[in-house]
Amino acid sequence: MKSHFSALAALSLLAATAASAAPPPLSLERLADDALENDRVAWDFVEGITTEVGPRQAGTEAEARGRDWAVKWLKANGFAGVKVEPYKMQTWVRGEERAEIVGTFAQPMKITALGNTASTGAAGLTAEVAYFPTYADLVAAPAGSLAGKIAFISHDMRPTQDGSGYGFAGPARWTGASLAASKGAVATVIRSIGTENHRTPHTGGTTFAEGVTPTPAGALSNPDADNLERMFARGKPIRMKLTLTPSVLGETDSGNVVAEITGRNPKLPPVLIACHLDSWDLGTGAIDDASGCGIIAAAAKQIARGDRPLRTIRLLFAGAEETGLWGSRAYAAAHRGEAIHAGIESDFGADRIWRFDSNFTQSAPALYQRLAKAVARFGVAPSQEVATGGADLNLARESKSAILDLQQDGTRYFDLHHTPDDTLDKVDPVQLRQNVAVWTQVVGILANEAGAITPGA
Ligand code: ZN
Ligand code: ZN
Repeated sequence: MKSHFSALAALSLLAATAASAAPPPLSLERLADDALENDRVAWDFVEGITTEVGPRQAGTEAEARGRDWAVKWLKANGFAGVKVEPYKMQTWVRGEERAEIVGTFAQPMKITALGNTASTGAAGLTAEVAYFPTYADLVAAPAGSLAGKIAFISHDMRPTQDGSGYGFAGPARWTGASLAASKGAVATVIRSIGTENHRTPHTGGTTFAEGVTPTPAGALSNPDADNLERMFARGKPIRMKLTLTPSVLGETDSGNVVAEITGRNPKLPPVLIACHLDSWDLGTGAIDDASGCGIIAAAAKQIARGDRPLRTIRLLFAGAEETGLWGSRAYAAAHRGEAIHAGIESDFGADRIWRFDSNFTQSAPALYQRLAKAVARFGVAPSQEVATGGADLNLARESKSAILDLQQDGTRYFDLHHTPDDTLDKVDPVQLRQNVAVWTQVVGILANEAGAITPGA
């Protein structure tokens, strides 16, 4: 009896010991593998903000609701130091938008205004259209040759995995209206900077050079640009009536949302991970860029399930990226002089990461090789490209920090980019989780790297 009791006591003592000892934290590798299979955090963010807030146009009350939502979500998910860092910005909002061919071949077309452009007035504007197949053709047009005309730039974009088509076609949107205006154009229409054939025009910002008065400008959907090209092939003058009534609200409030996973040594320069919280108003900003914010937050949270990282992981959910990088510039100004260990941004949708670039591939080859080896099992290849970071990494660039680009597959990104079709159903949960897995692995290694990283190509 006595010995039986002793055996029972010994057993219960053993059980109590087992219950009180927490299981050892998962290794970084296990956490990354777990994210690949099981992460729900990134999806939760994208699903939540697109459903409960929707479009988040920079400088508007919708963006403010997005900030409030993100602050609550970050706190609920256990992040430290969650706060809004406010700044002021000039805010532009869309109005009515209509385009129609009048006279020969009269018919309506689908158009959307470009950010920062002027209004035609409610009565609209009618003028002859001057056709430029490419941006280079517009560059070659003589000074004054567009007086009183609407310039049509039909520079087209093809899909590529690395998104390089955007750099090729993008100038038509970024500076085409300014260039046409400087040659006398009263307005500009461009072929959408997009790679699909739906009648969903792609919006986006444009910039007028100093001394050039902004004009009305819009993007036609790709099928409408095709149609307009066929009209020009018939050799007759083409006239268009444009009604675009955007307005400038003047200076309004915007802000960046910041949060962190505090490191064991918070005095060391942090790893800065960034995305942008604002979106264009046409869709719900699921791929651009709720997915980016979901990915970086999910990875940081996953890392925090393991051993506390050596360095702080700082999250920047930048505001007002789309209409002119207001948030990134405000963040760089507010934190000028602060050292950054490494900067990475996610702003290219939710499709899988396939390549990994850095600006220290040559100067810190051992670290680059270690990172490359760690992400190889997720199908990510090393490269010799030099990372320059995204729009929201101004601070990392200004402070000449280490920068990494985790390149996502951009093949279908520009089908959806800046259109009403940028919605949750386009996010593939399997590829979204692959992003979280790669980010967990990479950010986890960087946040535990004791030595500074010297960039150098
Ligand atoms: Zn973006
Ligand atoms: Zn965008």
